[in-house]
Amino acid sequence: MAWIAASARRRGFNSKNFNPSQSSELNMRVLFIFLDGIGLGENDPAINPFVRVEMPHLRKLLGGSTFLYEAAPCESKRATLLAVDASLGVEGLPQSATGQAVLLSGRNIPAELGYHYGPKPNRAVAATLQDGGLFGRFTKAGKKAALLNAYPPRYFDGIDSGKRLYSSIPLAVTNAGLSLFTKDDFFAGRALAADFTGQGWREFLGFPETQILDPRDAGIKLSALASQYDFAFFEYWATDYAGHKQDMKWALEQLEVFDNVLDGLLDAWNDDEGLIVLTSDHGNMEDLSVRRHTANPVPALVIGEQKTRQEFTQNMKDITQIAPAIWNAVIND
Ligand SMILES: [Zn+2]
Repeated sequence: MAWIAASARRRGFNSKNFNPSQSSELNMRVLFIFLDGIGLGENDPAINPFVRVEMPHLRKLLGGSTFLYEAAPCESKRATLLAVDASLGVEGLPQSATGQAVLLSGRNIPAELGYHYGPKPNRAVAATLQDGGLFGRFTKAGKKAALLNAYPPRYFDGIDSGKRLYSSIPLAVTNAGLSLFTKDDFFAGRALAADFTGQGWREFLGFPETQILDPRDAGIKLSALASQYDFAFFEYWATDYAGHKQDMKWALEQLEVFDNVLDGLLDAWNDDEGLIVLTSDHGNMEDLSVRRHTANPVPALVIGEQKTRQEFTQNMKDITQIAPAIWNAVIND
């Protein structure tokens, strides 16, 4: 029973909320890894990079499976993979602004509005994120939340000049009263580059002094950063770009990097203390025969202790169920 006492200490348990039947439910931290435009597609090497790429660490995690429609549902020692619907009963292809707003709010925003919308939020989508979504709710509840991506100076210049609009995720963060991480945060090691390694900062953003992280080290770093928060979010958007460009080579390179990130992350991550949740807003990269998004289901990959995972994924069918499951895992009241 020592683990109950330990969990009680961690949660600030009192007799009022003590429920032995729920005693396995610990206060978890959650690391949300958002991969834009990743669906679960067909087992077809002509169109789907997930069929061609090796991804040995993802395969090891999933007991030999990978991100394919035929692989889900999959339950392994450390992870659960489900295929979840991102179309949400609304006509047309799912889009980023609404999809990301769903992931952060748990609301069926496409159904409320009558359409999918993106890539950047219009006024109606932005209004649904006024409370900051999960970032706002956790902050209000006294929990620590952060978006771990570092943004370069020119991003803030674009926002300040009105030339660039926030996408749904940074919009939610700023609405929650949280700051986006800057160049200074990046160089001080408080945030990660959007490409994990920092290569983009060195080659495209004009910071040749950037120290490039080995992908595996970036995964270890991601775990370390996430351990400082109750709710940490990392956004990877290049997957959607490769999908729109129908660029198989770039897609394969990205997935290889990500697989090595996963290797470091899984080595460093303590399953007893937190869940890693990886999902997407819509399909795209898994079908490079089309330039547009797809209506394929997206992966809900949950890594962590088995019972917590089961509670998290119970009856999970679509992306509206991710945010409430994260809330319950962290707050657990
Ligand atoms: Zn897109």
